Amino acid sequence: MAEVHLSKIVKRYGSLEVVHGIDLEVKHNEFVVLVGPSGCGKSTTLRMIAGLEEISDGELRIGDRVVNALPPRSRNISMVFQSYALYPHMTVRENLGFGLKIAGMSPEEITPRVDEASAILGLEKFMDRLPANLSGGQRQRVAMGRAIVRHPDVFLFDEPLSNLDAKLRGQMRVEIKKLHQRVKTTVIYVTHDQVEAMTLADRIVIMRDGHVEQVGTPTDVFENPVNTFVAGFIGSPP
Ligand code: ADP
Ligand code: MG
Repeated sequence: MAEVHLSKIVKRYGSLEVVHGIDLEVKHNEFVVLVGPSGCGKSTTLRMIAGLEEISDGELRIGDRVVNALPPRSRNISMVFQSYALYPHMTVRENLGFGLKIAGMSPEEITPRVDEASAILGLEKFMDRLPANLSGGQRQRVAMGRAIVRHPDVFLFDEPLSNLDAKLRGQMRVEIKKLHQRVKTTVIYVTHDQVEAMTLADRIVIMRDGHVEQVGTPTDVFENPVNTFVAGFIGSPP
């Protein structure tokens, strides 16, 4: 059974429809990348999955539950955003544990989870630092750590690397891939960067104007683009 199942998902803002009935199945432990030009509905789709945006029409299932009406915290999902808002007055350790603390966990439950995330992300040496004393890449790792400590079934990423310079983006891409192999989790990752999509994805979902144009492995979409839009976007001959 699919871990995340979108069935004819529609988003309207008033009379304006921006997502026009998306069907998508994401399997357990699969890394799926939504890619497409700016404004095509990637973030809106991700936010509907996260529960941050109401679904206008269609059905969203996570595991065996229909979650359309469930609030974000009941979906067992973690989202990492492009602007990784860390709490500036808290250390890395406090930043990592804060979400669990406000969720009512005890220090005895929080500490092992924070230590585990810190080890996975290589943050051990930075645990007592404030965010101001971290590099961009380290801050991004803390933002990911805050998602990891929650032990989510599904990770959602919305352009997590777009604020980083090209070199760091390349490094973080490798780290995210390694992270996925280590923590074995289902990932839905949004980017407008074709290279990022091709390197990270088990399967790519190419979107345009609120529609899905094609779904396939990176090799599939590169070698067999369904139309000139996909070919142009992925950079392969039609
Ligand atoms: P992407 O992430 O692919 O760049 P978005 O999902 O952010 O695209 O936006 C898809 C479309 O929905 C865009 O045309 C955008 O202007 C529109 N949109 C997003 N949020 C709102 C909103 N709150 N109200 C009205 N239109 C919106
Ligand atoms: Mg977006």
